[in-house]
Amino acid sequence: MGGRSILVTGGNRGIGLAVARAFAAAGDRTAITYRTGDPADLRAEGLLPVQCDITDPEQVERAYKEVEENHGPVEVLIANAGVTRDQLMLRMSEEDFTSVIDTNLTGAFRVVKRATFGMLRAKKGRVVLISSVVGLLGSAGQANYAASKAGLVGFARSLARELGSRNLTFNVVAPGYVDTDMTRALNEEQRSRILEQVPLGRYAHPEEIAAAAVFLASEEASYITGAVIPVDGGIGMGH
Ligand code: NDP
Repeated sequence: MGGRSILVTGGNRGIGLAVARAFAAAGDRTAITYRTGDPADLRAEGLLPVQCDITDPEQVERAYKEVEENHGPVEVLIANAGVTRDQLMLRMSEEDFTSVIDTNLTGAFRVVKRATFGMLRAKKGRVVLISSVVGLLGSAGQANYAASKAGLVGFARSLARELGSRNLTFNVVAPGYVDTDMTRALNEEQRSRILEQVPLGRYAHPEEIAAAAVFLASEEASYITGAVIPVDGGIGMGH
């Protein structure tokens, strides 16, 4: 097997699956995490599915061991897994808030920290964090989600400073609205209100987000770190 050892969290569907497919198509040894469901289809595509809930540190450790045994240490990590639990702040429970932070932000910390052990040893590594335009603009009804996604920017930029001299890069992709299960859960009125704000007038295809992640992990992006790359149809211009 050639290529690099790639790990994509939440790579069983949506944006994560598009990212994993793009790396695999380029010849990389690509592992993905999934929580539930039958991973046989993913295996048939040449991906290595490892079961992992990123809110559980033991499962994260087990997943890395499995990837390392099969593909070697992770050279490129795409921290993509994420959830929403939308609610107006006055009605938002503490659990609504902390559970989204635990998955989207602390979950990213867990997987990134574990990845950097091998990257430091290899004296190179690429980390791409999937944030959201909502983390930059804010969004009524998504205070928990926006806080978690804004947190990823500070997290990535701090690591870019801490570990830049070790040849590790940390970048953020900030997608706008992408056609996946996450946005399919919105009602028609919400969907059309969103479209009115998007200069390109449409949702993104998951593959359009994948292209940015692949670029940030490429040789051509070797001097980019601490960057936030919007892939949002123009919705967040200026941020
Ligand atoms: P989906 O809801 O389609 O998929 C979410 C993925 O995250 C699934 O693979 C899911 O696994 C995984 N996941 C959720 N919680 C956990 C957990 N605790 N442990 C491990 N995996 C978990 O979302 P998208 O593909 O749309 O989104 C992917 C990322 O992109 C998210 O971080 C999201 O916030 C971000 N994003 C999405 C946008 C959009 O418009 N869709 C816009 C901007 C950012 P499982 O199948 O097991 O549930």
